[in-house]
Formats: sequence, structure tokens, C-alpha cells
Amino acid sequence: MHSQIDLVILGGGCAGLSLASRLSAFGKDAPSVLIIEQRENYTNDRTWCFWDIEHPAYKQQANHAWTSFEISNQQRTHQFDCRKHQYLMLESHTFYQDALTTIEQNPNVELLLGQQVISAPIKNENGWLIQTAQAQYAAKLIVDTRPPQKVNHQDAILWQSFVGYEIQTQADCFLPEKMVLMDFDDTFDDGLAFIYILPTSEKKALIEYTVFSEKILDKQPLITRLNQSIAQKMDGLSYDILRTEHGTLPMGNQLANPNKESTYLYAGLFAGAARPSSGYAFQRIQSWATVCAQSIIDTNTLYAFPKERWLQSFMDELFLTVIHNNPAIAASLFEDLFSQCDFQTVVKFMSDKATVSEHLQIIKSLPPLPFIKALPTFLIKKICAKIALSS
Ligand SMILES: Cc1cc2nc3c(=O)[nH]c(=O)nc-3n(C[C@H](O)[C@H](O)[C@H](O)COP(=O)(O)OP(=O)(O)OC[C@H]3O[C@@H](n4cnc5c(N)ncnc54)[C@H](O)[C@@H]3O)c2cc1C
Repeated sequence: MHSQIDLVILGGGCAGLSLASRLSAFGKDAPSVLIIEQRENYTNDRTWCFWDIEHPAYKQQANHAWTSFEISNQQRTHQFDCRKHQYLMLESHTFYQDALTTIEQNPNVELLLGQQVISAPIKNENGWLIQTAQAQYAAKLIVDTRPPQKVNHQDAILWQSFVGYEIQTQADCFLPEKMVLMDFDDTFDDGLAFIYILPTSEKKALIEYTVFSEKILDKQPLITRLNQSIAQKMDGLSYDILRTEHGTLPMGNQLANPNKESTYLYAGLFAGAARPSSGYAFQRIQSWATVCAQSIIDTNTLYAFPKERWLQSFMDELFLTVIHNNPAIAASLFEDLFSQCDFQTVVKFMSDKATVSEHLQIIKSLPPLPFIKALPTFLIKKICAKIALSS
């Protein structure tokens, strides 16, 4: 067995590498850190998008920025100018490369690739024992960023399932300064479906088919829908698929907070990082990693993802419940949100930056009836969940 390490990070994805690179930046003051990651190498497996508001992390490294976007529902298309708060895209290979370079520069921090943690870490009087297929490691602190081994449909209010192709065409067919945030597909019956188009040049775009639904959807039906949507959009033009990406994100995570030990922290997508109403997590992970690294340096303690702000979390969960209960009007709610409310307010709301009065503006932009109807059962459910948790 190896000598005891100050901190072992299980999983070197977005959260694990973000924390490790923040700690690496402390130079010789950094604790000893080992990241155990099961993949053999990093590929460009995803893209992270976020709005440019109040200095987001990785703004300088963003691979593309859009200055306008549109939302379409049935025959209506709404155009928006977002020059003031551009929509930014960070390709994961840029992020991984940046994190790996920072980590490599600090001899206290080591990344172990191709090793899978195969059982639950065991606590003893000195700390924790971690077992991989190849070796055993001892740690004082653990940050566990692995997703749960099994998730059930009821572990989130809704699930966001999506599949995307980065495609290249022969002829020019995209506007690289304009993206399509949501082009709703009203022919899909099993949830709220839309196409998301992120052009990065006249000939290249990432096109995703996304569904918000009660159940986690299989990849194959999404691929079929994606192919049909691309064929329709491209009007028969041929294209090559450069890369695919796929994901399932929890929206309104209902998993109980697993953090019970002060020396063992769950972190990442399923431990508080995913914003309920969007499933987005990248910027929230960046903010957490900065504070958690500082907390380890200052007091040798782990910092958990902060609890959602009450009003934001209430609004997010009620919004998801309304979408869940009324799939037929869900697309028009998004349409209302973007077209009836000031754009900066919507962006602040989506980026966890809205003030109380901005939250009220969001409420005012939406039709009250579906929310009033959903409120009694929503509140009863919340109270029951609280009672179950405390008993
Ligand atoms: C395709 C895709 C696109 C996304 N786009 C956006 C976006 O545009 N904006 C946004 O804000 N969010 C987005 N997200 C959501 C979120 O930001 C990402 O899922 C993010 O990667 C979550 O970080 P994480 O560290 O929790 O999980 P991951 O990045 O998935 O990291 C978990 C790591 O744990 C490793 N692991 C798992 N089990 C073991 C084991 N037993 N032993 C060792 N290692 C293990 C995995 O290999 C993985 O590297 C997207 C997600 C996906 C999947």
C-alpha cells in the first residue's frame, strides 16, 4: 500500500480536475493530491456552454461566442441580440488540456489514469482506504465525483436526455454568430423536445436533439430524431459527422444529500452541481472548486456544494413540476420567459445571479394559472419529503 495522501479525488472529470487544478495553483503549499480516473485518456467528449455574465470562469479560453440566438415554437420564431451577454462555448479538450498542464506543474498533485475505484472506500482510525483494481491507497480526505452507479427515474423531477453530432458540410449553411437555443419539436410525445444548434463556422455546427422528460431516454430513439431533424434542417445537403456527444442530466435532483462524513465529500453533477431548471453545472462546479480548494488550504476542511438559494430553488422546482404536469404548454412557457422578460434578467436567472426583484420579474413574465394549479400538490410533496428526511 502507498503512504497516506492528504486528499484523494475519485473521478477526474470536470469537478475532479477543477478542484485538482485549483489546488495545484497553490504550488508548494498544495497538499498531496491523487486523482483516480478510470478513463485511459481525455478526448473531446463534450462542450460546455454558459452565458458571459459577471466574469465566468474560462471566458478567455472559450472556443466560440455567439452574439445572437433564436427560439422557435410552432411557426413563431423569436430573435434575440446577446452581444452584451454572449453565449460562450468551451470545448472539453481545451478544459482538460488546461487542467492537465496546471496539474503537471505541481509535483504534489498526481493524476492516475486507467484506474477504476472498485468498491466503497473504507474508514479506519487514520482516514480512508481506497481500492482500485490495481492497488490500495490511503487518504486523509476524499472528494468523490463519480456519478451514482444506478439512478432511478424518480431521482429527479425531470431528466434531460440528449444526443448531438458535430457536423461538417460541403457548402456554407450556418451563420457562425447566431445559435438556435431551442427549436421545439411538437411531434414528440414523450416529453418536451427541442433541437439546439451551435454553429462554429459556415460549414460546421454541433446539433443536438434534447428531451426533458419524466424518464431517462435511451440513446437510439434520440439518434433517430436527431437524424430526422438534421435531414429536415439541411434540406437534403450531405454532411460528415465529426464527433458525437450524449448525456443524461438530472433536473431537480431528488437524491438525498449523501454527505454525512466531514472527511468524505460527494461532489459533481449528482451532488448539487446541476442547476435544477437547466441541468447546467459547469460554472457552478468552477465556483465550488475555487472555494473548496481555498478551504482545504486554509483549514484542511472540505467544502460541499452550497445549498440552493431558497427562492431560486422554489421557482426552479415549481417550473419543472409545471412542465411535467403540462407538457402541451411547456414550449410556450419558455417562449414567454424569453419574450416577455428583459433578456439580462433571464440570463442572470439562468446563471444563479438574479436578485429577488429579478426573480419577481421572471414570475411576472409567466402565465399564473398553471403555476397556481400546480402549487397545492407541489407544496404537499415538498412537506412530505421534508418529513421523510427528518424521520
Ligand atoms: C455531453 C454533455 C454536455 C454538457 N454540456 C453542458 C453545458 O453546456 N453546460 C453546463 O453547464 N453543463 C453541461 N453538462 C453538464 C455537466 O457540466 C457535465 O456533466 C460535467 O462534466 C459534470 O462534471 P462531473 O465532474 O460531475 O462529472 P464528469 O465530468 O462526468 O466526471 C466524473 C468522472 O468520474 C470518472 N469515474 C466514474 N466512475 C469511476 C470509478 N469507479 N473510478 C474512477 N473514475 C470514475 C468518470 O470517468 C469521469 O471522468 C454537460 C454534460 C454532458 C454529459
